[in-house]
Amino acid sequence: MEDRDYYKILGVSRNANEEEIKKAYRKVAMQYHPDRNPGDKEAEEKFKLASEAYEVLRDPQKRDIYDRFGIEGLRGTGFTGFRGFEDIFSSFSDIFDDFFGFGTSSRRRVRPRQGADLRYDLKISFYDAAFGKEDEIEIPQRAVCEDCNGTGCKTGTYPAQCPNCKGTGQVVRSQGFFTISTTCGQCHGEGKYIPHPCKECRGSGWVKRNKRIKIRIPPGVDTGSKLRIRGEGEAGERGGPPGDLFVFLYVEPHEFFVRDGDDIVCQIPISFTQAALGAEIDVPTLNGKKSLTIPRGTESGETLKIKGEGFPKIKGYGRGDLIVQIFVKTPKNLTKRQEEILKEFEEISLKKGKEGESWRKFFRFES
Ligand SMILES: [Zn+2]
Ligand SMILES: [Zn+2]
Repeated sequence: MEDRDYYKILGVSRNANEEEIKKAYRKVAMQYHPDRNPGDKEAEEKFKLASEAYEVLRDPQKRDIYDRFGIEGLRGTGFTGFRGFEDIFSSFSDIFDDFFGFGTSSRRRVRPRQGADLRYDLKISFYDAAFGKEDEIEIPQRAVCEDCNGTGCKTGTYPAQCPNCKGTGQVVRSQGFFTISTTCGQCHGEGKYIPHPCKECRGSGWVKRNKRIKIRIPPGVDTGSKLRIRGEGEAGERGGPPGDLFVFLYVEPHEFFVRDGDDIVCQIPISFTQAALGAEIDVPTLNGKKSLTIPRGTESGETLKIKGEGFPKIKGYGRGDLIVQIFVKTPKNLTKRQEEILKEFEEISLKKGKEGESWRKFFRFES
């Protein structure tokens, strides 16, 4: 490091203020930025020098030492300038953002990060799944600490440069001919540490809080359906957008209805006389009772359908059906009179012929 005139490099007077210095650096950095001058060694050198000049002149303490003792004096404090672009971009990442209004290519180590997505499991009733529901849920969220605006610093204090890596976030070790650069273990690559942490968030910049969120469950959802609520996940970092909240639904089973896709299945018992003679019966549906015609001669196990009494189709239009499985109940605990009638009924049946006894033909195999 020969004796460099940092003021000359940036083209400012010796009594330039902070704003003028920043402006001057902006101009030079824009002109010689490596993204704009790929492979140009001279531009590269100028960019590095200007960055070094800015690093010194923007810091009142360093500037004072430089004004009084020159570069020699700075070197006495351990100042080494920059090792490369990586150093420059990580030290001035905030500045390059305002300079260019966009990320400085892949070199930038510190990027805005989108907040994490959150999962919430919600149990709902069979009826709520069919008709939909407005609900309010409470979720624990990680939010930016309001006491310190997420800086993690006690009011009126600021982060300090990490002494281990001198603010670069990287530690460089030499091994023979090689230099190996690793993330600084003390500041985890941030280049800064917080000397006076905020009491509320203990320096993390984040607090846990519960947030109530209104959700709308559409009709027709099923177990495994999930609702995506945009922007209600965890807060983003460094100005990044928040994540999303995913509500996973679990529909409680119903004691009478069983769901089968968009259809609902139920079992209805009828008497053997209703099965034989046919009948008009009431059947429960999601929308109250509906009448169902049992045709004459209905067999146990046969299914009948009531159209449109199933679940609304969540994709597309219309609704599923209610599938009624009929089972014929055998009468028990007969009164004397009932028994007489049934015996008489059987006698007539036998005289009438062998209705429904085609299985008798299988006796042939025995003889
Ligand atoms: Zn805080
Ligand atoms: Zn460090």
